[in-house]
Amino acid sequence: MCSGEGQGDWIKIKLEPHAGRRGRCSQCRRPAPGYDRLPERRWQFVPLWGIPTYFHYRPRRVACVEHGVVVEHLPWSDGKHPLTCAMMGFLARWGRRLSWRETAQVFQVSWEAVYRSVEWFVQWGLAHRQLQGVEAIGVDEIHWGRGLRADNFLTVIYQIDAHCRRLLWVGRRRTKATLRRGLKAPLGPEIVQGVRFVCSDMWKPYLQVIAAQAGQALHVLDRFHITTHLNQAVDQVRRAESSRLRAAQQRLKHMRWPLLRRGSRVRGRARQKLNALLSSKLATARAWELKEAFSHFWSYRSLLWAQAFLDYWCFRAMRSRLEPMQKVARMLHAHEELLLNWFRAKGEISAGAVEGLNNKIRVMTRRSYGFRTYEAMEIALYHSLGRLPEPESTHRFC
Ligand SMILES: [Zn+2]
Repeated sequence: MCSGEGQGDWIKIKLEPHAGRRGRCSQCRRPAPGYDRLPERRWQFVPLWGIPTYFHYRPRRVACVEHGVVVEHLPWSDGKHPLTCAMMGFLARWGRRLSWRETAQVFQVSWEAVYRSVEWFVQWGLAHRQLQGVEAIGVDEIHWGRGLRADNFLTVIYQIDAHCRRLLWVGRRRTKATLRRGLKAPLGPEIVQGVRFVCSDMWKPYLQVIAAQAGQALHVLDRFHITTHLNQAVDQVRRAESSRLRAAQQRLKHMRWPLLRRGSRVRGRARQKLNALLSSKLATARAWELKEAFSHFWSYRSLLWAQAFLDYWCFRAMRSRLEPMQKVARMLHAHEELLLNWFRAKGEISAGAVEGLNNKIRVMTRRSYGFRTYEAMEIALYHSLGRLPEPESTHRFC
């Protein structure tokens, strides 16, 4: 037990090498004759009884036949990290339950120490994870931070198989190049060729890359994205209408007499005005009704009937005189084949998988989590959603 200068008490554990055992080469782990000893270093260990604890040790250098004079392998440490592996694993596991700032406060370390620990944990996991057997993937874009610049979007690739749902990759921006990078680096052509289902939004760069690289897979448009497009269209109609109505409020003053008269008696300009009022009042309701009607689409069992319904719905939407709804109809019509793939894949793809993972990412990318850089956030996303394997450790403290 030691008392530091103004930093409270800490426990010092002095380690000595076993006299009868030779050090091992840090490159090949084979025992090698000793060479000399380096000055003392210290590594922070998991706090004992809430007291900061350090290992103190003078590492030996060994003369390996193959690798020359190198520092010996230290089982509790990895590279130049000032924390022991046990401590890094400890902080990383807590960093999944608490925010990083809270973890740092509770265990009396710096935010940076938590960040580096999670980073080490994640990198180990990424290097050791298994990607065989990925059959269904979801590709999506996520908005991040403020503004709508290219850098404010992330591209994510999920595995959405029923037995394993996880984040496979995250990258900056949402261009073709981004997605190509993601399909190349972590997955590789072998895995991509084995994918049977791809689920995505109607974002053009993604559609093109998926068609080019995973042509064998059945490409399904995600139900949740289509619902989002419809909801946005309804909202556009509503906003346009409410500003129109505000302008009309003035004019409404002059509508008193036409409104009080019997409908059939209103003629001429007054009639036109009344018609405009009635139709404008209904725009939001009509848009909403169209949106509601579309949900029926997903309940079909037969591809043919679904197709017939889609055509009919698009026809109605095109005649609705609501520009945002027409836009959605044009979009759906253009991607009819991909939409109908939903029925070809029925039962094999979970409708909510992408949405669920997206929601988790949204929660995490909120500013309150306080990731200071993009890199830190990326690490955190892999950490909590990647289902990565964890490094072995002799002790598990949490
Ligand atoms: Zn060696």
